[in-house]
Amino acid sequence: MTDFITRFAPSPTGLLHLGHAFSALTAYEAARKKDGAFILRIEDIDAGRCKPEFEQAIYDDLEWLGLSWLTPVRRQSDHFKDYENALAVLRNKGLVYRCFKTRKEVAEAIASAPHLSPDGPEGPQYFGEPLTPNKEKEYLRKGQAFAWRLNIKKAIEATRNLNGPLFFTEEGAGPKGETGEVTATPEVFGDAIIARKDARTSYHIASVVDDALQGVTHIIRGEDLFHATHLHRLLQILLDLPAPIYHHHRLITDENGARLSKRDQSITLRALREDGATPQDIRKRLGF
Ligand code: GLU
Repeated sequence: MTDFITRFAPSPTGLLHLGHAFSALTAYEAARKKDGAFILRIEDIDAGRCKPEFEQAIYDDLEWLGLSWLTPVRRQSDHFKDYENALAVLRNKGLVYRCFKTRKEVAEAIASAPHLSPDGPEGPQYFGEPLTPNKEKEYLRKGQAFAWRLNIKKAIEATRNLNGPLFFTEEGAGPKGETGEVTATPEVFGDAIIARKDARTSYHIASVVDDALQGVTHIIRGEDLFHATHLHRLLQILLDLPAPIYHHHRLITDENGARLSKRDQSITLRALREDGATPQDIRKRLGF
């Protein structure tokens, strides 16, 4: 059994572009150097945005680039039960609550509370509380939609009695150069949504559960996901999952220094391939 397992975990919401190629190649090459394993995981919990043709394009583009991965590929939409079980652990610990507020109501609550900020890493930094059991029953009876929020202060408090110090090991760097032993500050999220109304889970839960289930030892991904690690580390401790080592890498930008987006069709691997680029051209352009 190898002691180095890493992964590339794209969401099939569009065609892969140069930024994805950089991320996949960084992880792939790291695994190769360590004689380790490289996993491809399809993060398709968002049924509204994920499409089968984009999933197929991920396999085609990565294969064209010369990558290979362990099979079978884990597709998150096949494993909602695993994420529900993790949510149940947090529920049993009394660390999550149902939030029936709409986006607009959350924004209003924040606007009227000077100590709250509209600018958390994932939107508003909201701290709420559960409804009274009677009110909750009433809302549920009416079929009102809700999301599960993590009571972040209680969750952080709970880790004090558990196995993990609240930090993570960063072998790359965050956007501000954070590296080495980084103190995790999940409170910046406020009461994070960990199961959305429409998805039964969230990226955060699905990601930490899968990384543990798949034995991922090294998480190599873009620095745009650095902030999420603060929350992931907290979830790992609460769910009693091992702590992987992190390596956040720089993001590939266009000639104006702007981040590449799935909306920009010109730098998709498919467009570059159709334009005559070879896998070697792509590797060279990305510095491999
Ligand atoms: N699915 C995420 C994305 O496409 C990546 C998640 C991760 O690497 O943790 O941005």
